[in-house]
Amino acid sequence: MESPKLQRRPVAGKDYPKNYADFLCWFPDDAACLNYLDWLRWPDGFSCPECSGNAGWRMSDSRWWCKACRRRVSATAGTIFHHTKTPLTVWFATAWHMTAPKNGVSAKTLHRLLGFGSYQTAWAMLHRFRSAIGHAEHDRLSGDVEVDETMIGGVRPGKRGRGAAGKALVAVAVEQTQPKGFGRCRIQVIPNAETDALRSFLLAHVEPGSTIHTDGLASYPGAAGIDYAHQSTPIKGSGKDAHEVLPGVHRVAALVKRWLMGTHQGSIGADHLQAYLNEFAFRFNRRGSRARGMLFYRLLQQSVAMHPMSFRDLVANPKPRKAGQDRPVPPGVRRAAPPSLHVPTPTNPWRS
Ligand SMILES: [Zn+2]
Repeated sequence: MESPKLQRRPVAGKDYPKNYADFLCWFPDDAACLNYLDWLRWPDGFSCPECSGNAGWRMSDSRWWCKACRRRVSATAGTIFHHTKTPLTVWFATAWHMTAPKNGVSAKTLHRLLGFGSYQTAWAMLHRFRSAIGHAEHDRLSGDVEVDETMIGGVRPGKRGRGAAGKALVAVAVEQTQPKGFGRCRIQVIPNAETDALRSFLLAHVEPGSTIHTDGLASYPGAAGIDYAHQSTPIKGSGKDAHEVLPGVHRVAALVKRWLMGTHQGSIGADHLQAYLNEFAFRFNRRGSRARGMLFYRLLQQSVAMHPMSFRDLVANPKPRKAGQDRPVPPGVRRAAPPSLHVPTPTNPWRS
């Protein structure tokens, strides 16, 4: 649950940087970044993650000292920043580059932009943020919802035979809004287009009582069951093209494929595809935000929310696994943490 303080609509220029100029002057050093995470995590004051005690003192290094259990606690403990050796200024720069451009950023581009660290550091930071994004969308879609399945290509095989044919099957759901607009979307990798798989997808992402709009696929009536009103329009014999019958899902499917091909050059490991789909939906569902800083704020807010499950998942597989674009570090090579972005301002180095 969000605290009462954060339930009000966040304000650009006060709760989050409204532009790049704000971003630069708000977060000049790692301490300012930690202070912001602290404020996001405990908007109503400190709450100890170990003992739930509310009394404590902030120490000189910005960590808290819990009065009840006498532990020292940082705002990053148990979050996606837990035990990170990468300075927070670098994390914040990554969050900004991930959320400010319309299409986000690839690990390759981020590595080039930052100009230090390794490709793996950039890759791992982006994936940690994606793991937080996976928890951002908890409200199910409702009202009139289009549902369809599509194949995503350019997928490298993962473990357990996933994506073996270079493709993965995904289910897409998109809210219809009047007149002729689209609301939020959900996209999920599914094992097949059978009744059980589609029903699990519906129950996870669409509020029961909603009306689902589908093509004539035989799995949908069973998948809808008695939980959803179901309107099926067989494409064959309707005299219409598929994109006319279900315009929302076709639009979203086209956008997500273009994004994977463009920004990520169509080279996605099957095991990580869902994380990319979550990132796409996170951005798509907030496309109406006027200030880009809003996405930055939501991303960091999710990142300090407690996600014990996802954190364990991430630690189990923190690095890229396959050869190719995801180059693993050779054994025995220790990577140094990238330096902080907090550096003293030189006086016109180009003059000396
Ligand atoms: Zn405590």
